[in-house]
This record gives sequence, C-alpha cells and structure tokens, in this order.
Amino acid sequence: MSSKALESFLTENLAELKDKGMYNVIDPLESPNGPIITIGGKEYINLSSNNYLGLATDERLKEAATKAIKTYGVGAGAVRTINGTLDVHVKLEEAIAAFKHTEAAVAYQSGFNCNMAAISAIMDKNDAILSDELNHASIIDGCRLSRAKIIVYKHSDMEDLRQKAKEATQGQYGKVMVITDGVFSMDGDIAKLPEIVEIAEEFDLITYVDDAHGSGVLGKGAGTVKHFGLSDKIDFQIGTLSKAIGVVGGYVAGKQNLIDWLKVRSRPFLFSTSLTPADVAACIESLSIITESTELHDRLWENGRYLKQGLKKLGFNIGNSETPITPCIIGDEVLTQQFSKRLNEEGVYAKAIVFPTVAKGMGRVRNMPTAAHTKEMLDEAIRIYEKVGKEMDII
Ligand SMILES: *Cc1c(COP(=O)(O)O)cnc(C)c1O
Repeated sequence: MSSKALESFLTENLAELKDKGMYNVIDPLESPNGPIITIGGKEYINLSSNNYLGLATDERLKEAATKAIKTYGVGAGAVRTINGTLDVHVKLEEAIAAFKHTEAAVAYQSGFNCNMAAISAIMDKNDAILSDELNHASIIDGCRLSRAKIIVYKHSDMEDLRQKAKEATQGQYGKVMVITDGVFSMDGDIAKLPEIVEIAEEFDLITYVDDAHGSGVLGKGAGTVKHFGLSDKIDFQIGTLSKAIGVVGGYVAGKQNLIDWLKVRSRPFLFSTSLTPADVAACIESLSIITESTELHDRLWENGRYLKQGLKKLGFNIGNSETPITPCIIGDEVLTQQFSKRLNEEGVYAKAIVFPTVAKGMGRVRNMPTAAHTKEMLDEAIRIYEKVGKEMDII
C-alpha cells in the first residue's frame, strides 16, 4: 500500500502544475535528433537540440562506437577506481586535456554529474562561492552539495562581483571561488572572463568556468576560455560531451594536481560506473574531428548568422546573443507558448522558454541552429516564422 502522504502530495502538486499550464508533456522522437526530426509520424525542422555540430548522428562517431562495442562490450563493468578504467578512458582524458590546452583532465558520466563531483571535492562549509545569478541548475546544485556559503552576484555585473569578492575575502571564509557558465544558454551571451580573471587575481579567487555551451562553438572549437586566450588562468574548465561533442559525459580540465585530487576525492568518480566504451570511443572520434578541422564550426556560425539575420529582418526581437543561440523574444508568457505551439503546427520544433527559467515578461522561443541544417531548412523555418508572426500580430 502506498503512503497516503505521498499520494496526496503527488495528486495535489500534479494538478496544480497542470492548472497553471506548467506541466511539461514530453514528445518522444521517432528519428535521430538531427536537423529534421519525426514526432508522431510528422516531420519538423528541429531548432531545439544542443547537437551544435551535428556530430550526434555522424557516421564516423557511429562507426567508432560500434567498433568499441565489438572490442570492449557495452559496459565498463565497474567504477573508475576499482577496475572500470579502460585504456580508452585514459585516451579520452588525454584528448580532452589536449583539446583544452591543460595539463590533465578527468571524465565523468555527464556534465551535471561533473558539477556534483568537482565543486564539493574542493569547497566545504568554511568556504564561499561567488555564483552568477544565471548559472545552470547543475552548478547551483553542485554548490549546495558542497555546503559552502553561496553568494549570488548579478548577471555578468563585474562591479557587483568585485564588491562581493572583496567582502567575502575580508570575511570569515577559507577558500573563495568564482563560478560561471562560459556561455549563458538562454540568451547566448558570453561570460566576461577577462574581467573575472582580473578580479580573481586581485582577490585570490579559485576560478571555475562551466563551458557546456561554449566548447565546440567558441575559440575555433576549443571553447570560451581559449576564445579569450585564458587557458592557463582558469583553474577549472568544465565541459560536457553531450552538446557540441555529440555524445554523453562531462569533464574537468586543469592542472595535474587538481585532476589527481578529483580522482581520489570526487564522489561520482569513486561511486558511479564509468562511461561506456561506445560513448568514450565516439567522444575520442568527435574531439579528433573538431580539432582537425573548423569546417563544422564554421558552418554552425554561418547558419547561426543566417537564421539571426532572417528573423531580425522580419522584425523579431532576437536579443543580444553573441553565439549561434538565437532567442526570439515574445515577452508575455501565454503569447510565447501560443507562438511556439503555432510554429510547431506549421512544422518548426522550437521550444517556448518562460518564467521561471527566464525573467517574467521575457518569454522567448529559443532556436538552436546547427552545422547540419541546410539553407533550405533555415529558409523554410524563417518562412514559417513570418507566417505565424504576422498571423499573431507579433511582427
Ligand atoms: C547542459 C549543461 C550541463 C549538463 O550537461 P549534461 O552533460 O547534459 O549533463 C551542465 N552545465 C551547463 C552550463 C549546461 O548548459
């Protein structure tokens, strides 16, 4: 018999979410997550994936994964520290360190897991963390897990950061860390890393950059830190292997002694089974493609510019993105949801993002163009935007 308390909790809260129109219904894909997807037998132009370079469906990665399964099987068999470290895990970590221009790297099962692992391995209840107010949920949870004092600074506000860094370092804390996304995924803006590094040097802060949306995209592919030429100035370079890299997993790249410490002290490394051989082999292939040529990177940027120009010319408000991420800001929450629904009916798959994920009155439909989109697909998407925008009096 299930608990009455649980039953009433679930019934009440699910009903409330559904009443408020905040209950998210998931549409399973019947196709790969490429530029065109199939849902419920219908095809859509896909502007919702993080598959920036189209590598999630790349034949070379599929082949590398298949070969690894034939050689190593489907599972790693244990956690990394028992005997779940295969030679391919070591090879992947060497490839990540080379990609990030650091001494060493450690791979985790996901980007989310990586933030759970890395922050709490270093920071504890005597410490303080300065955190941008728009940081990703996994950073927030990773900070909480560490039990350090969390001091939130205004989004990319360097005066606020400096003031709070000054207070924190004069206060009762042991270590003080500053932590930021490299690219903020809702607006596509880039963290002000040169200023952050300057403040960090002034106050001896530990620097932590989660570049999930920047890797493969900025710095000719190497990420936001490389984009600013700061590879030797950031202590923790975090990334995911699930967005531009196209597979799954997360990592920390940094100095050898940091990585040595994470391998003995970070809990998901010690207590959760390592990445599968197929994932690892596909990631190695992906990194080799990204480092050997900027072809996919260049196409991503070209498509990003093309889509932005097209939507802007129609009169949409596309915000101030500095990356291919293209928000189309509608404002009102209900109108944003209706707009996204109409786009969907016309064949564009682009999700509405509203409060509380973004500020009230800043509802938007977020578009993620990729290297795999053709001009024809983008033209068709822009045509549908025009049709729906005019029909709903938005443009
Ligand atoms: C997507 C994202 C993550 C999570 O990465 P996964 O590999 O999908 O778990 C972590 N941090 C940031 C900033 C992200 O955007």
